[in-house]
Amino acid sequence: MTAQYDAIVIGAGAAGLMCAIAAGQRGLRVLVVDHANKVGKKILMSGGGRCNFTNTGATPANYLSANPHFCKSALARYTPAHFIELVERHRIAYHEKELGQLFCDESSKQVVKLLLDECAAANVEVRTHCSIEAVLHVDNGEFRLRTTQGAFSAPALVVASGGLSIPSMGASGFGYQLAKQFGHEVLPTRAGLVPLTLTGKHAERLHDLAGVSLPVEARCNDVIFRNFMLVTHRGISGPSILQISNFWQPGDDLRLDLLPGIDIDALLQEWQRERRDAELKTLLGEVMPKRFAQRLCEHWIANKPLRQYNAPELRGIAGLLSSWPLIASGTEGYRTAEVTLGGVDTDGLSSSTMMSRHVPGLYFIGEVVDVTGWLGGYNFQWAWASGHAAGLALASAG
Ligand SMILES: Cc1cc2nc3c(=O)[nH]c(=O)nc-3n(C[C@H](O)[C@H](O)[C@H](O)COP(=O)(O)OP(=O)(O)OC[C@H]3O[C@@H](n4cnc5c(N)ncnc54)[C@H](O)[C@@H]3O)c2cc1C
Repeated sequence: MTAQYDAIVIGAGAAGLMCAIAAGQRGLRVLVVDHANKVGKKILMSGGGRCNFTNTGATPANYLSANPHFCKSALARYTPAHFIELVERHRIAYHEKELGQLFCDESSKQVVKLLLDECAAANVEVRTHCSIEAVLHVDNGEFRLRTTQGAFSAPALVVASGGLSIPSMGASGFGYQLAKQFGHEVLPTRAGLVPLTLTGKHAERLHDLAGVSLPVEARCNDVIFRNFMLVTHRGISGPSILQISNFWQPGDDLRLDLLPGIDIDALLQEWQRERRDAELKTLLGEVMPKRFAQRLCEHWIANKPLRQYNAPELRGIAGLLSSWPLIASGTEGYRTAEVTLGGVDTDGLSSSTMMSRHVPGLYFIGEVVDVTGWLGGYNFQWAWASGHAAGLALASAG
């Protein structure tokens, strides 16, 4: 026997649950299926366990997509203020960490509970441990799912199965396969918001500094992020590096300003006037972590007392410190990436409803779509906004 619904959502993550809530609240019978053992696993692990659930400054400029205009409509109709209202209604205490990033004071679990409570209130049925064996589009236009928990059918199907990052948490390429099955283009995917790896000399010279962190300005392909960088055993990470990883591809020129916001030329000249006998590594150790300064002066800069440098040498040092070339060999990949860049081509979707232009009743939302946010709550905001847009569209079509 096939159980009948108004809409079936594949994926009980941020986007899928939000979509189900919006449609359920408007009277639709909605089923959400997920192959994982519990819902919202990425929400639970997000923001170091405190879920950076939105960013008050989110605008379309914070997203990458082959079509940068695509995200505008959904983001404008479901804003950070809408999700904050929901968080406050559920009495979840939160705080702003930096740059508009809102985190739960206590735990990401509160956001999952909020979503499940809203699902229950909207009579949404959520099934976990439910693996999909086949998705058929039958003659009457219905979508029929054969799953490990039986057969389900509905006139609308929402694909919210996320991207490829963190396969151990249930991520799969399922959404992309389904998109192709229904004639959609899938743009090449790659790991985003991900640590970069180093090999060769850079790796040898830095790996034992793992744990050292310093503020930098990372620059690549005309994009700049100023924040902390963390040296890891395999390369570099930290917010500035995760951010720039979205814009970096192997072979691209990546530069770091190791003393952001400091006029390095002027500083070196001042040191040469006023601290002539001090060695460069000692002085640099006053403005950046000592071990990092020492390492720079062992391998990249000749260390001597300041009085011994001539003017061209000082200019060279200033140039190196403000534009340190870092040759990354790759990324840590999907194993640790926060997001997947690329995905279902937005050309095949309506930006106001997220519905397929080829197959009526088929929707794609959240990370599976070729829309990727910066680090800082933007990705959840896209999941909420795209999910909400599809949920409203389901209700008005149903
Ligand atoms: C470690 C980490 C920390 C993060 N922190 C933040 C943060 O603080 N702020 C932020 O904005 N973003 C953060 N992100 C990104 C954010 O988690 C994602 O962008 C967001 O979860 C995407 O939502 P989604 O609903 O599209 O996909 P997901 O949340 O990935 O949900 C997809 C769901 O589909 C299910 N699924 C997959 N394949 C199948 C299948 N074949 N059958 C059935 N079900 C399937 C999965 O089990 C999953 O439950 C973080 C990501 C990671 C990995």
